[in-house]
Amino acid sequence: MNEELLVDEQEFSWSLSRESLFTFCPRAYFYHYYGSVGGFEQFSNVEELYQLKKLQSLDLWINSICSEVLRDFFYEKPENFNIHRVAKRYFNQGARSLSMREWRDDPQRLNLFESYYGLTEINELIEHGAELLNKSIESLIESGLIDYLQGIPYLNRKNLSFPVSSHIGKIKVWFAPVLVWQEDGLLKFLTLNNGSSNKIKARYSAALHKIYAFNDLRTDPERVVTLNFDLTTGETIALPDEEINLSELIDHVKDNTEEMLSLSSDHDKLVENNFSKNTNNCSKCKFQKYCKRT
Ligand code: SF4
Repeated sequence: MNEELLVDEQEFSWSLSRESLFTFCPRAYFYHYYGSVGGFEQFSNVEELYQLKKLQSLDLWINSICSEVLRDFFYEKPENFNIHRVAKRYFNQGARSLSMREWRDDPQRLNLFESYYGLTEINELIEHGAELLNKSIESLIESGLIDYLQGIPYLNRKNLSFPVSSHIGKIKVWFAPVLVWQEDGLLKFLTLNNGSSNKIKARYSAALHKIYAFNDLRTDPERVVTLNFDLTTGETIALPDEEINLSELIDHVKDNTEEMLSLSSDHDKLVENNFSKNTNNCSKCKFQKYCKRT
């Protein structure tokens, strides 16, 4: 794929996951954000790249089920909500689709990295996923988080359109808290991690919430708290305000955006070869099948 693709700098949007992929490997970043564009259309010549872009790891899938279940529970307030049953329903839908390899006809369907690349048999992966989900749901219950959330008055729950976006200067920034609510004069954001929490990312994520609250909700950043729940340990951590530096995040987003955009050859064009390959990460990369041929 050596033709030039156009990039609109005005439309550029930044997120922590975008930055992570760029750090992981600039070439993988190119495939994900540019090379696979349009790959969902029939007869597209980048269908394979799009299929690879949609691959996700087992951990990420389980994390996303937990997020969906919590949002259903918190915002939809259904009668007799049974968290185990709802989680199982989401899980079974995905597992059925994965077993039938529905992703072959529809790349939007679940496809897991571990089975696609033959690291784990599908049945074994599904079994492992079921255990992981069960443990995660137990953590949510045993930690007391579910009871605590149940006590938040319905009118204090802020049902935003997830993921959420805001702006830093002209740069659009995206982030995905699981839940948001008001309590005791504070605005609280809940995020989930599955044992892979990174301190710097946690700080940036908490700073993004403060910037969003200030820009879009007219809320004093000092009244914003981010709670980060670990699905593997059942612990919730809230970073102290001294560790959350808004100026640091703003500078970081601007520098990182400039670095990503500097790889366009002529400020509005992108060429695959400008994005270097980081061959240290190939065994963990979802694009390895395509990349090894190029
Ligand atoms: S296979 Fe390796 S070089 Fe290619 S995109 Fe992935 S990490 Fe980068």
